[in-house]
Amino acid sequence: MDLYEYQAKDLFARHGVPVGPGQRIADDADAAAAAAAEFGVPVVVKAQVKTGGRGKAGGVKLADDPADARTKAEAILGLDIKGHIVRRVLVTPASDIAEEYYFSFLLDRANRTFLAMASAEGGMDIEQLAVERPDALARVAVDALAGVDLVKAREIVAAARFPEAVAEKAAEVVVKLWETFVSEDATLVEVNPLVRDPRDAIVALDGKVTLDENASFRHPGHAELVDIAAEDPLEAAAKAKDLNYVKLDGQVGIIGNGAGLVMSTLDVVAYAGEEFGGMRPANFLDIGGGASAEVMANGLEIILSDPDVRSVFVNVFGGITACDAVANGIVQAFQLLDSRGDTVSKPIVVRLDGNNAAEGRGILTDAGLPGLSQVDTMDAAARRAVELAVT
Ligand code: ADP
Ligand code: MG
Repeated sequence: MDLYEYQAKDLFARHGVPVGPGQRIADDADAAAAAAAEFGVPVVVKAQVKTGGRGKAGGVKLADDPADARTKAEAILGLDIKGHIVRRVLVTPASDIAEEYYFSFLLDRANRTFLAMASAEGGMDIEQLAVERPDALARVAVDALAGVDLVKAREIVAAARFPEAVAEKAAEVVVKLWETFVSEDATLVEVNPLVRDPRDAIVALDGKVTLDENASFRHPGHAELVDIAAEDPLEAAAKAKDLNYVKLDGQVGIIGNGAGLVMSTLDVVAYAGEEFGGMRPANFLDIGGGASAEVMANGLEIILSDPDVRSVFVNVFGGITACDAVANGIVQAFQLLDSRGDTVSKPIVVRLDGNNAAEGRGILTDAGLPGLSQVDTMDAAARRAVELAVT
């Protein structure tokens, strides 16, 4: 889960990382003006969207007084920054900046370790710097067990060539950023710019944090950070039911058991769809190993409630959960949906193969469920589902 800048800076502040003299969130220009009046000093108005490069896109503006803050907020609210529409702005006192540095901790999957990246030349051109002068961006591996103490932090800061005058203070901030990274179970903590002010204080003026959702069970507080309004409603409903669901933009709903099978189902549907004017999968949904009736009903309910879906392809390879159990699950799912008032009205194609396939197919044939047809091979079933989505 990615956080907004204001959430990232809230977390930083809680872990003792200096973030400047306060911030307010405003969802209209009046509120931005009021926040500026409250601070009573020049402020910066900043778009709150989960993407970088806001400064270059016109999403970060200095405002001298409340009237100016109102004008700047009007200009920023509604902006489209890399596909993210700005709905809220952050208002914060403008800081005096002597120098801008770059700092991040991240999970380095390729090397199975953590990584610190830092540069004395931070700011809005960091991507360009990384490409053109990679040696100006220090990369220091961090051992997960040893972590980052003051000694390690000094090593990182020296590798990044932070100026002598602020090296010790920067190292102290780096230790606090590491504490944030570890204790919040983050996979990314990035500060750009980490600034040096005219009095040689070190302040985080921007923050980008990604939290590891696999660890959310031990961070009940993280649930509050979810931006429910910005979530896809079907994805949110699926998450509430513990389903592994991703909404895509096609027309053929997909249900399968096992992530690998579902991925290849997406491929065969997209391939078959090319023949039919570009029909595509409408979603990824893995119901996992134990395809119980309830899980099947929940999955079907989510997919059928997607208005883009015109047909559904249920692709199951029976393993530990045999096909007859899955078939019974499908039959009960129809009954369950019926009792919930969501009678199945879209065509469903089922392909059962693997353990007890014959028994499973027999159960579905006997049940004679309306709109449900069976096809025995994956390719032919995908084709049939696509055909049904067209007609
Ligand atoms: P992004 O990384 O999305 O472009 P930043 O928060 O880094 O957004 O802001 C871009 C630039 O705006 C910064 O590099 C900094 O120069 C300036 N800036 C950001 N916040 C402040 C602030 N509180 N005071 C003064 N300048 C700021
Ligand atoms: Mg930035």
